[in-house]
Amino acid sequence: MDDPAHILHSVFGYKAFRPPQDEVIDTLMAGGDALVIMPTGGGKSLCYQIPAIARDGTGVIVSPLIALMQDQVAALRQNGVRAAFLNSTLDPASARAIEERLLAGELDLLYVAPERLMLPRMLDLLERARLALFAIDEAHCVSQWGHDFRPEYIQLSVLHERFPEVPRIALTATADEPTRREIATRLALENARHFVCGFDRPNIRYRIAQNDGGARERLLRFIQDEHAGDAGIVYCLSRKRVEEIAAWLSGKGLAALPYHAGLPAETRALHQTRFLNEEGVIIVATIAFGMGIDKPNVRFVAHLNLPKSIEAYYQETGRAGRDGLPADAWMAYGLQDVITLRQMLETSEADDTHKRVERHKLDAMLGLCELTTCRRQALLAYFGDRLPAPCGNCDNCLSPPESWDATVPAQKALSCVHRTGSRFGVNYLVDVLRGRDDERIRRFGHDRTSVFGIGQDLSQNEWRGVFRQLIARGLLAVDLEGHGALRLTDDCRPLLRGETSLWLRRDLKPEKRKKAKAGARRAFRTDADQQLWEALRARRRDLAEEQGVPPYVVFHDATLAEMVELRPQTLGELSRISGVGEHKLDAYGEDMLAVILEHGDRDDAEDDDRPDTAAETLQLFRLGMDVEAIATRRGLKATTIYGHLTAAIERGEVDLREVLPLPEDEIEIIRTTLSEHGGTALKPVFEALGERYSYEVLRCVRAAS
Ligand code: ADP
Ligand code: ZN
Repeated sequence: MDDPAHILHSVFGYKAFRPPQDEVIDTLMAGGDALVIMPTGGGKSLCYQIPAIARDGTGVIVSPLIALMQDQVAALRQNGVRAAFLNSTLDPASARAIEERLLAGELDLLYVAPERLMLPRMLDLLERARLALFAIDEAHCVSQWGHDFRPEYIQLSVLHERFPEVPRIALTATADEPTRREIATRLALENARHFVCGFDRPNIRYRIAQNDGGARERLLRFIQDEHAGDAGIVYCLSRKRVEEIAAWLSGKGLAALPYHAGLPAETRALHQTRFLNEEGVIIVATIAFGMGIDKPNVRFVAHLNLPKSIEAYYQETGRAGRDGLPADAWMAYGLQDVITLRQMLETSEADDTHKRVERHKLDAMLGLCELTTCRRQALLAYFGDRLPAPCGNCDNCLSPPESWDATVPAQKALSCVHRTGSRFGVNYLVDVLRGRDDERIRRFGHDRTSVFGIGQDLSQNEWRGVFRQLIARGLLAVDLEGHGALRLTDDCRPLLRGETSLWLRRDLKPEKRKKAKAGARRAFRTDADQQLWEALRARRRDLAEEQGVPPYVVFHDATLAEMVELRPQTLGELSRISGVGEHKLDAYGEDMLAVILEHGDRDDAEDDDRPDTAAETLQLFRLGMDVEAIATRRGLKATTIYGHLTAAIERGEVDLREVLPLPEDEIEIIRTTLSEHGGTALKPVFEALGERYSYEVLRCVRAAS
């Protein structure tokens, strides 16, 4: 049996455990139970994967999400681990084959959906197998108060009764103390060792921009300036808005796809697959999207609407940067969001207790938006975590906003609400304050009130900012009828009487803000590094296509970035890169190394007297050499040469027929099969053609289409 540190190194290619992974693993290795609360991206999976491999028998992983299960199994297999899943997507024969492998002790890990696990037949089967452990992922699904409640999870305590000697581990990223207690009780984990980690996600840069109009233009600028070519998620409140934003971004040349519960299941599945398998796809979604997506290289999460609570905000933004590399959580929020959410809450059917809780949550969210100090400190404090110093990686830390004494304007605004009879919305109130010449105002006689024209010192936008913050702080309430009329609350009395003062955040103009910060985008030191990065990504995409898996399952971005940084020159050096285990070294080592060697080491690159390698290939090709001959002559792999030629075909510099000595009808068959399969994944095409043509050939034909 292998020891955990050795498995970490040889199978996963990582150098060291991230605390408390080692302690969790030790607990399970010694036969104990564990409850692990760790933020997204913290590294929960290794906590059960390594003991499942190291211990005798199979580790059974309970996971509620089929997509996630398949992803994890694909990733494990890439590392040479014997993993499988049992869920409703399998036909009976495949399921039976997996059951047989389980009984024969040929599986390290078996992922099972909870409803399937609880079937008497499945439990009997497990009794006949050797079990290393049970892992219950997304354990917060057992909580009846949470939004992810799954009734099947309640029954999981049966595991403890039927298999008392098998160690169990429950894991979640959901933070709060009541949920934690509920998990422990319902899963009979009171005696388990608890591991509770901090919730900080230091690589995520939190940014909340004030917005009154023009949110989508700002979003576009944000994506173009800081995340060109990156994958991201944009959240909107309604389906209609999702469609509209996705279409608009697509019109601007971005690969943006809509996702919401109103779309046909096939469309949703297709969009999700494209998001996972292609680079740089942006999903525009309602909150229906996200559960079960563990794509590690989501570089930004943008909100075009205010989430209902900090919990929701934290969960949604948490989908960015699971790989630990810099990522942005970006939000645009304005007066209308505040009004809409306040109204939704007040007019909801919920009972009073429930409403009070919701109101409290919304207040906390609004407080976070209006904050002038470190956002991360406030976020973590909300979850009971303390960050001793400001983070230096949020908008408020990077460009501290000013605050200003708004006591007098606030008093004017409040009086204006009162004197006009608490019947009007923000636009009207601002017109009265600014003394606008308006038929409606005259008709109501408000041009003769004491508040008419007393606010000419502030612009219309500044007044909107004042009203937004008064509503956000609960000094003004929004009417129940949904017309947006404002009225005073009891909380505003001390301010009106002059007993307290009020300091508000000064909204920055977008231009000013833009200069003040630098984005979280990856920046390589030299153009040569950037080129190598692109080349490695292209090679990874090809390899992933051949396997029919998402690119990040082959190598994470972090691993490629380290290759760019260290430029390993031998397989031995390559094996020391984090994320390159023995199995991946075997499978992909030579391919990646070929790309790196072809780009020279950094010193060469900086001299930049290196001939353009693709051009050199092209030159030899034009001299009449074929692919094999060029590869031999240049000491490169044939796949690399094909890569150069594919690019040349795409640019129209070389004719397909010169590269591929195939009869026209065969090329036509390939072309038809490609277009039948939509052209994104090559594996199905490869198989549909009876594996007669190599991936290189398929790519050449695709490039010519
Ligand atoms: P979680 O399930 O907690 O969200 P994962 O288990 O998916 O997180 O891990 C997040 C990322 O961190 C993955 O890319 C994983 O490979 C990587 N990772 C986990 N543990 C380590 C480690 N000890 N060293 C390096 N990378 C790690
Ligand atoms: Zn900060």
